[in-house]
Amino acid sequence: MQPRKRRRKPMIDFILIAVLASLTAAIVFFVLSDSGKNQANKPKEKANHISIENSAFDGISIATDTSNNPKVPYALHYPKTENDAFNKEVRAYVTTAKKAYLAELESLDQQDEDIVPSLNIDLETVPFKEHYFSFVLTNTTYTGGADEKSMVKTYFYDNVNKQQVTAAELLGNNKEYLNKLAEYVQNDLLTNEELQASIITDNVMAATTPKFENFERFAIRGDAIEFYFDDYEVTASAASTPVVAVPLNFINPILAEAYQVENTSAKNILSPPVRELDPNGKYVALTFDDGPEPGSTEKILDVLDKYNAKATFFLLGNRVQYYPELVQEELKRGHEIGNHSWSHPVLTNLSVAQVQQEVNRTEEAIRNAIGQGATVFRPPYGAVNDTVKAQIPTPVILWSIDTLDWKHRNASQLLPMVQKAMHNHATILMHDIHQSTADGLDGVLAYLSAEGYEFITVSEMEKLTSQK
Ligand code: ZN
Repeated sequence: MQPRKRRRKPMIDFILIAVLASLTAAIVFFVLSDSGKNQANKPKEKANHISIENSAFDGISIATDTSNNPKVPYALHYPKTENDAFNKEVRAYVTTAKKAYLAELESLDQQDEDIVPSLNIDLETVPFKEHYFSFVLTNTTYTGGADEKSMVKTYFYDNVNKQQVTAAELLGNNKEYLNKLAEYVQNDLLTNEELQASIITDNVMAATTPKFENFERFAIRGDAIEFYFDDYEVTASAASTPVVAVPLNFINPILAEAYQVENTSAKNILSPPVRELDPNGKYVALTFDDGPEPGSTEKILDVLDKYNAKATFFLLGNRVQYYPELVQEELKRGHEIGNHSWSHPVLTNLSVAQVQQEVNRTEEAIRNAIGQGATVFRPPYGAVNDTVKAQIPTPVILWSIDTLDWKHRNASQLLPMVQKAMHNHATILMHDIHQSTADGLDGVLAYLSAEGYEFITVSEMEKLTSQK
């Protein structure tokens, strides 16, 4: 018998190939379907799409990360700049928010079919002075239960130096300025009518203690700096998200120079520099309130020039608006400009809002006249308390000698009133709205000059006496 060649039949080959092929297919299918299943369990990192688009501003792009998975939808928008370290920090914030959202959804045993969760990080880009940008990221999360919750994260970015600017830098790292700001924001929250029903005083106190990190959430928008708080941070409801808008005319004097707003129309006139003075010298600060007044103010300016005297004018806003050129003249001749309220009320009898209006309207009128705000404040009648002080961005200045010029209106009485009370480092109160004061001033300056006094501004006097 001829041994049969051990040869497989073509039919068997075909079957083998078919079996192998289907096995491979099964394995491929299994692997694919398994990874598909994993993806269904963990849709987070992979099922998203990040796009980067240019914004209207050079060097600033907008990143968008969205998930259309109906079980875990989200839409996240955030800025991308030319600073990698900054971008990394922003991304870390967004990623942390996303992870928290996904973790919370995962922790819910069974997602209620009726609840559509959402995570939205909205980005607003607000330019300031051409090259600064406030990035306001509003994170609104809903995972079922009560209301949506909004939290705000901001970044203030210098697009020329390509770096973030912190609240501390904004305030020139000045602790006094921080106290001033904290006081304003605290007061505003506590007296905000919209928040009254839900405000939690203890939380406000904690959130506004004067620490720079408490004021990191800010944006400069229009004529104010806005400070943000999260829902439930200082209130018991999410009905209205607390924002405190601090007017620039309040905050401008306490900002580091780079962030101050200037009025270019009067840029060439500068406030007189605070000079270095001899701690043992004889000095007097002359102050003139309630002006400006055409005629008497002009005469006073001429007498001051004659004695090379620098003085301080505490102006009423409702007069500044009519005589801006007189205010410019005062500044041009080297005198200091002070705010004396708008309409000369007793500030301690007013509400916080009314005090703010008196101070801020005047500040604005002065700024319109000379392109910069007042450097000092004097309350009408010297009536001041801590609440009033908290509304005033600059030092509050009173006086040590009252000439009562408003009462006697007699040029020849001005000098005796000064003589009988004169002391070194005196601050003398007069009013430039009275012609009698303008007429009697030469005699006063002649006397004080002969006595060896130099005439300085109240800021110089403050500096001199604080060194003692
Ligand atoms: Zn007055």
